[in-house]
Amino acid sequence: SSVLEIKDLHVSVETEQGAKQILRGVDLTIKQGETHAIMGPNGSGKSTLAYAIAGHPRYEVTSGSILLDGEEVLEMSVDERAQAGLFLAMQYPVEIPGVTNANFLRTAKTAIDGEAPAIRTWMKEVKSAMENLRMDESFASRNVNEGFSGGEKKRNEILQLELLKPKFAVLDETDSGLDVDALKIVSEGVNRAKDNTGLGLLLITHYTRILRYIKPDFVHVFVNGRVAEEGGPELADRLEEEGYDRFLVEA
Ligand code: ADP
Ligand code: MG
Ligand code: MG
Repeated sequence: SSVLEIKDLHVSVETEQGAKQILRGVDLTIKQGETHAIMGPNGSGKSTLAYAIAGHPRYEVTSGSILLDGEEVLEMSVDERAQAGLFLAMQYPVEIPGVTNANFLRTAKTAIDGEAPAIRTWMKEVKSAMENLRMDESFASRNVNEGFSGGEKKRNEILQLELLKPKFAVLDETDSGLDVDALKIVSEGVNRAKDNTGLGLLLITHYTRILRYIKPDFVHVFVNGRVAEEGGPELADRLEEEGYDRFLVEA
């Protein structure tokens, strides 16, 4: 089974005033099949971690490493990261004008597997994944995320997750803006991916709500670009009651 190791990661972001340090030494090890929740106040660097793992050009890793089964992810291109088995769902999913969802999925699947999926089984798989996520079939022929509502974009991310079958996924605030019904549908999709493929999951969230549906094995609290506290699921319960105040006072 695979392991994703984040070691002493320091990341700065390009701003108009120059480089600003955001992550100040993050250590995190995720094994396949485990779910790790990253929680923390706004501005603590959670999305920056997601962007760094994704290889976003604006986020510069100034030191540290990210290893997938011992291979340096930071030396991989964005495509190579996907081929290696990483899946990143961003807080603000991008729209891709001129590319239909169906074509995008098939192209991504082909790039990741190194060969095109057999057409009949693939069509069936796409159809049933869309049904499971209660997505109307018209979403297959619409351009990726173009004109999708916030909730539809989140479902579309989970559709990609279920079809591309990565080893590890980073989901950044997949719960934000979802009503309870949509949250359940999205969570069921994530749980199917966990059950079916032994997905390793980094679940980034500000709120504890989604953790009622997707159970974390470990909880890490981010404050000021670092992990300030770690624990099991009980830590999320405590945050639900107490909020982040005690961390903010210490910081
Ligand atoms: P979180 O996801 O925990 O809310 P972020 O990683 O989005 O936190 O942001 C962490 C800090 O980095 C914030 O202070 C934010 O303003 C700053 N930051 C992130 N990205 C940029 C950017 N592209 N330009 C300027 N500041 C940024
Ligand atoms: Mg935020
Ligand atoms: Mg964020």
